[in-house]
Amino acid sequence: MSGGAVRIVVDEHRCVGAGQCAWVAPKVFDQRAADGVVVLLQPRPGPDELPYAREAAQLCPARAIRIEDDPHEDDPHGDAP
Ligand code: SF4
Repeated sequence: MSGGAVRIVVDEHRCVGAGQCAWVAPKVFDQRAADGVVVLLQPRPGPDELPYAREAAQLCPARAIRIEDDPHEDDPHGDAP
């Protein structure tokens, strides 16, 4: 099994400021005070936070949160671009 190294990507243009992400995973996401748009605090959350980040991605009504394989992780299999 891989270590599951992933990174979080947010699309500020899609975000509607609903705030589910910051509520579910407050160590990973915050919201801008001015307009509520998502602020990504931890692009690469550790194993303690990742489940919450995944839940946030599922809950986001705008689908503005994606969880991708981390292409920058040292990869012994060499399949990173
Ligand atoms: S849950 Fe989605 S729409 Fe709501 S603040 Fe977070 S990224 Fe934006």
